Amino acid sequence: MRGLSYEKTALSTHYPVLACMNTSQRELMRVYHRLYRYYGDLQWWPGESPLEISVGAILTQNTAWANVEKAIKRLKETHSLSVKALSHLPHKRLARLIKSAGYFNVKANRLKNFISFLQGRYGGSLKKMFQTKTDRLRTELLSVNGIGPETADSILLYAGDKAIFVIDAYSKRILSRHGVMHYKKSYEEFQQPFLKHLPRDVYLYNQYHALLVNIGKDFCRSRPLCDVCPLNGWRGVPPLRTA
Ligand code: SF4
Repeated sequence: MRGLSYEKTALSTHYPVLACMNTSQRELMRVYHRLYRYYGDLQWWPGESPLEISVGAILTQNTAWANVEKAIKRLKETHSLSVKALSHLPHKRLARLIKSAGYFNVKANRLKNFISFLQGRYGGSLKKMFQTKTDRLRTELLSVNGIGPETADSILLYAGDKAIFVIDAYSKRILSRHGVMHYKKSYEEFQQPFLKHLPRDVYLYNQYHALLVNIGKDFCRSRPLCDVCPLNGWRGVPPLRTA
C-alpha cells in the first residue's frame, strides 16, 4: 500500500479506491470519501505557526476548542506565544493567561515541560525538532511529562507535517459503534489499521482525522443522531485486520 502513489487534485483531493485493495483498505477509503463529500476540505489545524499548533494541541486536552482559542488569543495579546517568552514566563502568570483552557495549572506545567524539552534537545527550534525521524520524535515527545499519544501525534501531524494518524475519543466512539473495534482497545490498536491500510499521506491523515472529529461533534454524540448522519448505513468492517 505504501508503495502506491496518490495524486492530490485541486477539486476533491481524490484518493482512488483501487481493485487491488483489500477489504479494510477499501472500507477506510470509502468512509473517507463519504465524509469528504459531506464536509469538503476542512483545512485543519487552525493555527498560524507550528508553535501555535503545538501549544493548541497541549491546551486542547479535555476542553472545547473555543476555550483554547481564548487562551491562545491571550498569549498572543501579551506577546507570550514564542519559545523564548514561554520559557521565561513565570508559571503563575502562564497559568493565568491560559485560564480559559481549564486545568490551567496542569496545562501550564505541560507547556513548560514541552518548551524545556524543545530547548534542551533542539535549542528551542521546532524546525530542527521536526527534522527528526517520526518514530524517534514520537518516542521523545511521549517522554515529556504530560504529552500522551493523541497530543504527540497531533503535534507531529498538524505542526510537523509528519504522516501519523491521530486517534481521539470521537474516532474511537465512531469505530466502536460500527463494530470495527471495541472501545476499550488501546490508542495504538485503534491507530494501527489506519497506518497499515492507508497510504502514508500527510494530507489524507490530516483531513481524515478532522472529518471524524466533525462527525463526532455533529452526529456521533452520546445520543447518536444516526438518522441524519453521513455514515448512516456504513456496516463497518469487523474486524479491520492489522496483520
Ligand atoms: S451517529 Fe450513528 S451513523 Fe453516525 S457515526 Fe455515529 S453511530 Fe455511525
